[in-house]
Parts: sequence; C-alpha cells; structure tokens
Amino acid sequence: MTLKARPLTCCHIGNHMDSGSIRSWTWRLPAWSPAAMHTDERHLSPGRRTLLRGAAIGAAVPLLPGTAVADTPAPATGKRTAGSVSYRWLGTSGWRIDLRRQDKPSATVLVDPYVTRFPTGLFTGAFDPGTQLRTDKALVRGHAGTPELICVTHTHWDHLNDVPFLARSTGARVIGTETTYHVLRSFGVDAARIIVVKGGEVLDFDGYVVEVASSRHSRNGSYSYFAPGTLNAPPATAPRTVSDLPEGDTLAFKVTPDDAPSALFMGASDFDERSFAGLAPDIAMVAVASTASTYRYLPRLLDTLGRPGVLVPVHWDDFERPLSLPPRKDGAGLDDFLDRARAVSPGSRIVVPDYETAYGADLRPRG
Ligand SMILES: [Zn+2]
Repeated sequence: MTLKARPLTCCHIGNHMDSGSIRSWTWRLPAWSPAAMHTDERHLSPGRRTLLRGAAIGAAVPLLPGTAVADTPAPATGKRTAGSVSYRWLGTSGWRIDLRRQDKPSATVLVDPYVTRFPTGLFTGAFDPGTQLRTDKALVRGHAGTPELICVTHTHWDHLNDVPFLARSTGARVIGTETTYHVLRSFGVDAARIIVVKGGEVLDFDGYVVEVASSRHSRNGSYSYFAPGTLNAPPATAPRTVSDLPEGDTLAFKVTPDDAPSALFMGASDFDERSFAGLAPDIAMVAVASTASTYRYLPRLLDTLGRPGVLVPVHWDDFERPLSLPPRKDGAGLDDFLDRARAVSPGSRIVVPDYETAYGADLRPRG
C-alpha cells in the first residue's frame, strides 16, 4: 500500500501512527549471546577503552548471519550478561533502559519519555495547538523510575513534555539540543544537568556509551512539519501549550551498554544519511513514516545502518491513549513499515513492541 493514498490524519506533526494486534515477527533469529560479546582491545589505550569498546561491539557482534567479525575475539572480561539490560517501550519513541552494573546501583536511561499522554484532538481530527501542557506526576514516576540520564530527540511535546518534571524531581542529566537546553532552563532545570549536543559526540558514561547523531524530523504530506524552529535563548516564559514547543532540530542516540548489543533510538522518521553512516547498531528503534514525502526512507535508512539484526518500529501508536491500554495503530504506517522492512532487510528480526513487556538486551521478551 502507499501511504500517499491514505488520509493524513496526524501529519501536522509528522510521524504518528495506529493499533490492532501486536505481534513479534521472527524470520531469522540472529542469536546474540554472551559468547558473541567479545571485543578485541589489544591495541587500545586504557583511556579510549570504553569508546572503542562500544565501536567494537557494534562491528563485531554477529547479530546477522554473515556479518563480518573483526579479528579473533579475545575472551570477554566484561561483567555484563544479556540479561543485565532491559528495555521497556513507553510508547511513541519513548524507552526506559535499565542497566545492571557490577557492584554498583543499576542505571536507568530514558529516551523521549512521554507518559502523560493528554488529549489534543490530534487523533480525532480536531487538533488544538492551544492545548495546555500538563504532567501526571504519579504516572510519570511510576513508569520512569529514577533515571540518571534522559535523551531527548527533539522538543515537540510528545517527546519533551514530561522531561522538565523528571529532570527537576530526580536530578537526572538531560542530553539534547540547544533548544532543549533553553526550554528546560525556562522550566527551572539546573543548567549543570543539561548536556548540549549537536551530533557526532561520543560520550562515555558509567557502564554505557552514548553516541549522538544529527537527524531530521518527519515530514507530512506537504513536506513540512508542525512547529519548526529553534531557540537560541530561553523563552520569555515557560511554554504553556503544545504549540509553544518548537521542534528545535532532531537527534538520534546510539546507546551501547558494556558488553551488550548497541541500540539506536530515533524520534522521527527522517534522517541524515551521512550522519548515520557507520553507526551500525545491532538494534534499531526506527520511527515509522506516516507519509511518503521522504524519498525511499526505509530502504535508504536500513542500507545506511547496515541492516540491523533487530528492527523495532516506534512512533506508530496513538500517543493520546493511556499506556494502561494496548497500543492502537495510527493509520497504516506500521503495516507499511512491516511490508517494506521485510522486503529490504529480510535477515532482520522485527519486534513490534507493546507497553507491558520488558525486553532483554537482544529485544526478546524477558521471562
Ligand atoms: Zn516531532
């Protein structure tokens, strides 16, 4: 089916989709196992160990049959097993990642945590850009835990809305664009807790590496999108409505836990081919397109990423429906994604996530 033929119900914003049965497809099962976690660090200086460890995992773990394995792997000295990382989908492009660390408290990393999900009329054809922002604090606390890092792909409300509360109440660091910085400052978030990035940064945290890639926002059927623009100073007053939050440029994040597969997180369905070149994630959380405005989006993306072993479509659900209910598809975007992904990357295992399941480091449901 062609997306250009379908009604563009949600394209003011770009990238949102719909429900139905939630399934997991398993065509080929590229096994990830601790035995595949080996990296060759013989030539690495201690200071760069972690950075290159992240790169080596991305290149060497044979998630896909036929994927080249660099050098002869040395025995892993890592402390982590596949079961020591868990992923929970928070809907839209939101994720909670929990990493267990040896002899230390576990770490929680969030990506685009939008849990409150208040109605704007977007999914009923009566979108009100003057809808007031609000945060359901108890609900957010329940889903988000106590993060140490929050990655923000862009500053539209369905990505940023709950971040000011989380940042203030937990002291988590937030990593995002300059616009994210100014928006958060206007909400009273401590400047020292905000990490401004542009794309290209590779940041070494305790137990994981975060690589930032410049990305692009989804486009509607008119090749534009809702609330474009950036901020280079704090707004005069803190944003009050959904239209007060501009896109503010878009990023993607690759998170590589110690000795576990790397995962790329996208928040919108377009990208910069040259900025994504070489990322080679093992797992890719790919934003589903709602229109065909971007030329060969999925084939170009999967080619650029090297056809990841695991593909996880995101941002296909009605994000104004509570997380306590099953995900509901927004239009035909998810079905179209699945058709195209099967054709373009038949060796990838596709996992259509749901809200209730905790997934392991290989994105298989945890028992
Ligand atoms: Zn957006």
